[in-house]
Amino acid sequence: MSTIRPLPELLINQIAAGEVIDRPASALKELMENSLDAGATDIAVQLESGGIKLLRVRDNGGGIAKDELALALQRHATSKIATLDDLQCVSSMGFRGEALASMAAVAQLSLSSRTAQEAHGWKVETMDGHLSEPAPAAHPHGTSIELRELYFNTPARRKFLKSEPTEFAWCEEVFRRVALSHPEISFSLTHNGKTIWQLPPHTPAGRVAAILGDEFGLAAVAVERQAAGFTLTGLAALPAYSRSSRDAQYFFVNGRFIRDKVSSHALRQAYQDILHGQRHPAFVLFLELPPERVDVNVHPAKSEVRFRDSQAIHSFLFHTVQDALAAPNAEVAAPQPA
Ligand code: ADP
Ligand code: MG
Repeated sequence: MSTIRPLPELLINQIAAGEVIDRPASALKELMENSLDAGATDIAVQLESGGIKLLRVRDNGGGIAKDELALALQRHATSKIATLDDLQCVSSMGFRGEALASMAAVAQLSLSSRTAQEAHGWKVETMDGHLSEPAPAAHPHGTSIELRELYFNTPARRKFLKSEPTEFAWCEEVFRRVALSHPEISFSLTHNGKTIWQLPPHTPAGRVAAILGDEFGLAAVAVERQAAGFTLTGLAALPAYSRSSRDAQYFFVNGRFIRDKVSSHALRQAYQDILHGQRHPAFVLFLELPPERVDVNVHPAKSEVRFRDSQAIHSFLFHTVQDALAAPNAEVAAPQPA
C-alpha cells in the first residue's frame, strides 16, 4: 500500500524547474526578463560552456533590498502581482515568482544586489536549497545573478543537454530576442571570455540592423498601423530576403517573443501572394495591445499567449502586413539584383 506524503520543498522546485528552466537558454531568458522588469538600462550577460558551467546576468536596475533577498528566491514570492486583477492585466515580464526558486534548486546560485538606498551591496548564495545569510558585498546599484553547473544535482536532466555550441546557440537566440525588443537598453554578451555582442542603445531600426544585418534592413519595408486598440510596428522583409527556415521570424506581443498559431497563420497569409514554395518570410514585428486583451498565463515559460479576440487580431495582422508589402515604396526598398 503506498502512502501519500507532501513533497519536500527542494523536490517541488526541481519539478518546477523541469518546465521553467529546461535548458540554459530558459534560465537566461528568465534572468534577462527580471532585469527588464527591474528597469535596467544596461544588461551584461556572461556565459561559459554554453551557459552550463556559468551563466551570469548583471544589471543596473532597481536592485533587491537586503531583507528581501531570501524572499526573491522563495517559490511563489513576487513583487509584480498581488491580486487576480493584477494577473489579468499584467504588464511585467514576470509574475509567477518561481524562476529564481527553480534555478536555485538545479544550480549553484549566487545573488548580489544593491538598491539606491543602500551604501553597499549584499550577497546570498544557495547550495542544495539552503540559503546563506546575506553578507556585505561590493556591488554597484543593480543586481547580479550567477548560476554555476546547471543541473549538477539532477543528472537525468543534465544528460538531456546538447553540446556546448548548441546550448550556446540557444542562449544567443534568447539574447537576440530580448535585445530586439528593447533597443533603448544596452546589452553585452560574452562566451568563454570572448565578446560576442556589444550593443549600445539604438533606435528600433538601428537595433534590427545591428542584429539581423544590413541585408535584412535593405530588403525590409516598414510596418506601422494603429487600429481598434492594436498597434503593429516593425519591419517585414520582401521575398528577396526570404529564408529556407523560420530563423528570422521575430514576433513580439507587448514586448514578449511569442510563437503562436493565430499570428503565424496571419503573417504567412500576408505573404502568400508574393512568397512561393518552401520559402519562409522574415520579419521583426511588435504587436501592442491592452494587457487585458491577451492572456500570458498559458504556459510556465510564457512563450504562448491566448488572444481574447483572435479573429480581430488575425485580420489586423494579415491586412497590416499585406498592405505594407504591397505599398508602392515596398519595391524601392528591395536591393536590386546585381
Ligand atoms: P517573478 O519575476 O515572476 O516575480 P522571479 O523568481 O523571477 O519571479 O523573481 C522573484 C522576485 O525577485 C521578483 O519579483 C523581483 O522582485 C526580484 N528580482 C529578481 N530578479 C531581479 C533583478 N534582476 N532586479 C531586481 N529584482 C529582481
Ligand atoms: Mg522572473
